[in-house]
Amino acid sequence: MIPVIDVEICDGCENCIEACPPQVISMVDGKAKIDEGLCEECGECVNECPIDAISLLRD
Ligand code: SF4
Ligand code: SF4
Repeated sequence: MIPVIDVEICDGCENCIEACPPQVISMVDGKAKIDEGLCEECGECVNECPIDAISLLRD
């Protein structure tokens, strides 16, 4: 399950960056960006986004 960020609604709060255990999320132009190759698919970022901008997609 790969997390996908909806950059149209992400407000750059950085909650997901702080929540990601392997620290594979960064800010790019004010939006969160996941390094999918390093993501461990733990789902923490999904739980911590206050506006539900991150969803899990089946790969
Ligand atoms: S699913 Fe886990 S490892 Fe992947 S980006 Fe979210 S918090 Fe980080
Ligand atoms: S927690 Fe949600 S709104 Fe905040 S930076 Fe991450 S994706 Fe964007």
